[in-house]
Amino acid sequence: MAEIRLSGRPASSGFAEGQLYVLPDKRVSRASTGDPALEAKALRDAITSASEALANMAASADGDAVDILGFQVAMLEDDALSEMAFADIAEGKAADVAWRYSMDQEIETYRSADDEYFRARSADLEDIRDTVLDMLSGGLSFAATPPGAILMARDLQPSRFLGMDWSKGGAILLSEGSPTSHVAMLARARGVPMIVGLGDLPRSIHGIALIDGGAGQAILSPDQQSLDQFIARRAEEDTVSARAAKLLLDDAKTKTGEAVTILINVADPVELDAISPALCDGIGLVRTEFLFNDDKNFPDEDAQYRVYRRLVEWASGRPVTIRTLDAGGDKPIKNLTFDGESNPFLGVRGIRLSLLRPDLFRVQLRALARAASHGPIKVMAPMVTIPSELATVRHMMAEEVDSLKARGVAAALPPIGMMVEVPAAALAMDLFDADFFSIGSNDLTQYVTAAGRDIGAVADLADPKHPAVLRLIAMIAAQGKDMQREVSLCGDAGGDPALIPLLLNAGIRCLSMAPSMVARAKLIISETSLSGDVVTP
Ligand code: PEP
Ligand code: MG
Repeated sequence: MAEIRLSGRPASSGFAEGQLYVLPDKRVSRASTGDPALEAKALRDAITSASEALANMAASADGDAVDILGFQVAMLEDDALSEMAFADIAEGKAADVAWRYSMDQEIETYRSADDEYFRARSADLEDIRDTVLDMLSGGLSFAATPPGAILMARDLQPSRFLGMDWSKGGAILLSEGSPTSHVAMLARARGVPMIVGLGDLPRSIHGIALIDGGAGQAILSPDQQSLDQFIARRAEEDTVSARAAKLLLDDAKTKTGEAVTILINVADPVELDAISPALCDGIGLVRTEFLFNDDKNFPDEDAQYRVYRRLVEWASGRPVTIRTLDAGGDKPIKNLTFDGESNPFLGVRGIRLSLLRPDLFRVQLRALARAASHGPIKVMAPMVTIPSELATVRHMMAEEVDSLKARGVAAALPPIGMMVEVPAAALAMDLFDADFFSIGSNDLTQYVTAAGRDIGAVADLADPKHPAVLRLIAMIAAQGKDMQREVSLCGDAGGDPALIPLLLNAGIRCLSMAPSMVARAKLIISETSLSGDVVTP
């Protein structure tokens, strides 16, 4: 059989070689009792057992898996989810038929949402649907996936992922799916290579497959030449990783001797439990959105203060840059962000939303000011577009610090900086009274190239290597130097081995990245000579 080459969107990097395994669709065999009261009871019991099973799974899970399973339990416990199924059962439908029908409607709504975040949640709903169907037919039944297999499916559900044995390797190929789905987060955390958006996958194929998750490439039934090339590339990659690992705790320095500051991005403080602060010079970006994910309550001042203080304590004297809430765009928050905006990326997001909700924003500012009395916190505003937005943040922060101190509460006025991610701010930086700047290359790239960061069809255009983006970054670096203000870069480009030499040559000397990228970044920096082509504004 001739080899088949597939390419899709990388969702989790790494190499894998293994037997292909097509995940079968879920089948349910259950006879209806024909009695609506008994069918309703069967569904009620199945929902209770499903939520108990998921809660048990959460109790023995760690990291993101706990939140993901908790989210599913919360959804199952919401009566609104089963309302339609119970109404259909009352009309005479069997429990499994009614549940499947009502969940399929719900899943379709999510799947056809404009927003990738909502589309990505459809796999969670499928998961909930199937767990309850399992319970209706006698208990959980995970397909017995052979350990180490290369799994092919339309999409994959988090609980199925968690029910599989990944200790022997393996990888995931999805014809649909999303890099922002919960299962993609789990795959990254467990180091399971994963590619999504591969389109129609051949279902009757057997044999082995070779996966390069980072490149988004899979070869099914490879010929000998592809296999040899793959083995050579994987060996090369292993050598580079081993060299990089040796530099993890070293200071970053270019080949020509320039020092580079390495900061880390934090999306959830639990990530920090497993890493030493010695690998970085501080935290360059805390995405505080994680605090607002509980759709019932927003965190109060004390709860936020405790989290910010813990970050300062972890950093042990290193600076900690905490970004104020950046809700909206690809980060909708229930009961907070605006529904129905025709283009949420150009709508009320980031600081625009915070300034419309001073009731919530002042709580965050107070918590930050209190935490700043324990160590070097820097406060950063996202999506700043005009100088008066930042001036208002500064003014509000000063008011909150004064009122805390007047009440005898320990507080300190932190430096106030801004993300440079809106082209209007990038092109007029000198007008902003910021103590520091940090380039949000993810948003800056999408706004400069007019190509949405969550739209796969224009992914090639949303390229931070576009000369326009690099020239703008060089301008920002030069402007920061003129203003004697620190300029860092905290978008994904900051940890991307292909971008790092270009950013250094554009004048950036401070990069903030996911902790997992630090070792490789230090290696790339050590191999970069700044005497080469310089990107000029
Ligand atoms: C960015 O836009 O580059 C950035 C760091 O912010 P986020 O990805 O959270 O929008
Ligand atoms: Mg951004």
